[in-house]
Amino acid sequence: MARALWLPNVLRSAGLTVHEVSGWRTRGSETFDPVAVVAHATAGSRNSSDQDEINVLLTGSPTAPPPIAQLYLGRQGHWWVVASGRCNHIGNAALPGTGRAGNGYAIGIEAANDNRGESWSTIQYISYLRGVAAICSYMGWSHTRVFGHKEISSSGKTDPSFNMDIFRDKVRAIMAGGDEALMAVLTDAQVRKMFDYIDKMGWVFVHRDGAWSLVRGMASALAGIAQIQAGVTSLLEQVRSVAGSTGMTPEQTAALEAVIRDAFDSSALQTTVNDLKAAAIALQRAAEEPVPPPEVGDASIEESGSEAVESGEVRPASEAV
Ligand SMILES: [Zn+2]
Repeated sequence: MARALWLPNVLRSAGLTVHEVSGWRTRGSETFDPVAVVAHATAGSRNSSDQDEINVLLTGSPTAPPPIAQLYLGRQGHWWVVASGRCNHIGNAALPGTGRAGNGYAIGIEAANDNRGESWSTIQYISYLRGVAAICSYMGWSHTRVFGHKEISSSGKTDPSFNMDIFRDKVRAIMAGGDEALMAVLTDAQVRKMFDYIDKMGWVFVHRDGAWSLVRGMASALAGIAQIQAGVTSLLEQVRSVAGSTGMTPEQTAALEAVIRDAFDSSALQTTVNDLKAAAIALQRAAEEPVPPPEVGDASIEESGSEAVESGEVRPASEAV
């Protein structure tokens, strides 16, 4: 039984942007022994601000006392640590495969999404995956310790709207090291630019391998280009060094430099270009596949600023504690 004081560092270690909500270290009961992570959607307004959503998590509702969840994930992929102790997000719901049930055993993540058909931006969705993967890795959990609220709820909850089997598959892939490792090759600006592009292309890439192929291809290409640039720089330095001691004319030096640049252009760079082309082809194929519509939550049950205060969320007092 212990507070999850490791949350900010673990998320930051995964390369995520993490904010700490004042008082998080002592918020929530310390009777807390997490064995699983439960993904939620806030089901607030589509136009809600991060502060609006966090306020709901901090103030709770008549049926769900605060704090509602340990973590909040904004639409821009930023994380906020709200509490380190037990929160009130699943009632007494059982956590399949763990032999445990209830809030004392689950880390809750509330992600901003209206749960009424709002699509998930790729940057938020991938941040969700990376954060959950980081938590599971730290705790030594497999991807099977990840649940969607809708999968375990006994009160008809429908959040989050995305497919949990696909979500778990992606978490497993990130934990296996491939995609997470590749992310480190890209700068934040490159990641953001790529996600912006993927967002423009639509939801399809979250469900297909195209987005990951793009990431892989781009990362490989960028790493290749960086290596080539380093190699060329090193060789050119050698040429200049030799030129100084052998009395080469500037014209001769320039000609040798040109030969070196040509050599890289014609061979190693071609490999990089081929990687980029392969990524483009994968993207094209993904784009040609039919687009699955996002799953849409039950629009009849949501009204107010948080799922915890929806009519559908009303729980007996014992369940909310
Ligand atoms: Zn929920």
